[in-house]
Amino acid sequence: MPLDPPSSARPVPDRQPPPHSSPVEPAELQLESEFRFNCHPGIACFNACCRNIDITLTPYDILRLKRRLDMDSKEFVTRYTIPFEMDFHGMPGLKMRTRPGTTECTFLTDAGCSVYEDRPVACRYYALGNMGVRRKDESSVDDIYFVVREDHCLGHEEAKTRSVAEYRTEQGIEPYDDHNRAWRDIVLKKRSSGPTVGAPSARSLQLFDMCSYDLDSFRDFIRARSFRDIFDIDADEIDALADDEERLLAFSMRFLQQILFGEMSIPVKDGARKRRIAQRKETWAARREDEIAKQREELQRRQYEE
Ligand code: SF4
Ligand code: SF4
Repeated sequence: MPLDPPSSARPVPDRQPPPHSSPVEPAELQLESEFRFNCHPGIACFNACCRNIDITLTPYDILRLKRRLDMDSKEFVTRYTIPFEMDFHGMPGLKMRTRPGTTECTFLTDAGCSVYEDRPVACRYYALGNMGVRRKDESSVDDIYFVVREDHCLGHEEAKTRSVAEYRTEQGIEPYDDHNRAWRDIVLKKRSSGPTVGAPSARSLQLFDMCSYDLDSFRDFIRARSFRDIFDIDADEIDALADDEERLLAFSMRFLQQILFGEMSIPVKDGARKRRIAQRKETWAARREDEIAKQREELQRRQYEE
C-alpha cells in the first residue's frame, strides 16, 4: 500500500505476455529495479483506473474479499464475478464484475475503494504488472515485473522512485503472492502442457474450479466421509484445516497438484483405490438392477393394459 493510499489501482490482465500495442513497457524489471511512479488521493486522475477495469481474480483475492464482505465463496462468486476460460483447455477463470452497463468496478465509491485493505493483488500491483516465466529447460518459475503506462494515469509523472521490492512491501503484495504461488504454478503448468497432452476431464476442471474459487465447498469436501475413506488424514488435522482458511487454501492446492499431476503429497490409504472401484461397481450394478426392474414393471403394465 502506498504511503499515501491511493483510492484505486487498475490491474493489467496479469500473467499474459504483453502484446505489441499494449501499455506494457517492454523492459523486464527485477525486484531491485527502480521505477518512477506515485499515486495519492490528491492526484488529478484520482479513481480513473477503477472506472475501466479488467481484473482477473486469484484464489487469495476471493478468500480476502468474501471474508471482508462476510459471505461464503459461492455467494461472492455469484454476486461479484464473471466466468471466463483461461486457456484452450477451458480452465475456469473469474473476472471482477463491473457495475451494470459500465466498465467501472463495483467496489468504487466517491471516497475511493470500499475494500481497500482487501483489494485484489492486480490492484495492488498497478502500475506494475507481473508474470511468472518458466525459462527453457528449467522447472522453476521466475517472477518478472514490468511497468504499465496508460494515458489516463498521471502517477508516472510524479517524481517519486522506488524499487519493485519496496513497492511490493508498501502495497502488501507479498502475502498475496505467497498464497497464490502454487495456484499460479498449476495454471502455468497446465497451459504449457500443450494440446497433445489432451484436454483435462470435466471432473478435473470441476475440481480446479472448487479448489481455486470455492473454498467453503472444498472445506465440506474434505470433511465428507468419501474423502477420509481415500486420504490418510486424521480428524484433528481436517478440523485444523477447516478452521484456518489460509491453510485450507494451501491444502487445496496440494490436492490439485496431486489430482492433476500425480504429485503425491497427501497420503492415500492402503487399498483405497481398489475399495473405491469396488464401491463404484456395486453402485453401478445396483443402478442397473433398478433400471431392469423398472423396465419389467413397465412391460407388465403394458401387457396388462392390452
Ligand atoms: S477493487 Fe478497489 S482498487 Fe481495485 S479496481 Fe475496484 S475500486 Fe479500484
Ligand atoms: S495515479 Fe494511476 S493508479 Fe493512481 S489513481 Fe491515478 S490512474 Fe489510478
